[in-house]
Amino acid sequence: MPVAPVLILLGPPGAGKGTQARMLEEDFGLIQLSTGDLLRAAVAAGTEAGRKAKAVMEAGQLVSDDIVLAILKDRMAEPDVAKGIILDGFPRTRAQAAALDALLAEAGRKVTAAVSLEVDDAAMVARVAGRFTCATCGEGYHDQFKQPAHAGTCDKCGGTEFKRRADDNAETVSERLKAYHAQTAPLIAHYETKGVLHRVDAMGSIAGIRAALAEVLGRVTA
Ligand code: AMP
Repeated sequence: MPVAPVLILLGPPGAGKGTQARMLEEDFGLIQLSTGDLLRAAVAAGTEAGRKAKAVMEAGQLVSDDIVLAILKDRMAEPDVAKGIILDGFPRTRAQAAALDALLAEAGRKVTAAVSLEVDDAAMVARVAGRFTCATCGEGYHDQFKQPAHAGTCDKCGGTEFKRRADDNAETVSERLKAYHAQTAPLIAHYETKGVLHRVDAMGSIAGIRAALAEVLGRVTA
């Protein structure tokens, strides 16, 4: 790949951003940057940012731009991001999109592509409510759509402990969907205006969406 791409995955909770980001890591050697994962790590570590973010995340609302940007900047200062990144769950507001442009410009980079994973809202609550991950390696599973090949054992690492997110319950998911439509969905038009938007139908199979994303990435990095 000639340029290290900066790919943004946009879409409501349950659209498959995390699942697809992990696959893009495998397929293209990119680095997944999930602000949700970074915030959950801060909450677990009990940092000041984590303490401030906890209640907001449990309510399904957006954490303040200041906290999210500070966490993202720290992560972007690590050398592995030079390989190219997939932003999963960031930016989520116009202010975050502007801050991202400024941060990338400092490093002589810009957004290569923003992919909108297009889904029906009505299906998202069921998708989110059934998901769980391997506690050891983070591989994602779903009660209905993606069970481990051998029940109770992670396909990837053989781990036997799994966890579910505290905010993956029906009530919080509907708050997260509201926040998405009010604050994040306007970014689709923002990236369309910049000429970097790609829309991918994300109601199909995980493998089909993976192939569609590979096709987009191949095109934008050719
Ligand atoms: P996610 O893992 O992307 O679904 O994010 C889980 C929760 O973390 C969200 O519901 C927000 O409370 C918070 N969060 C993650 N990323 C951001 C962001 N870019 N801006 C504000 N809040 C965020």
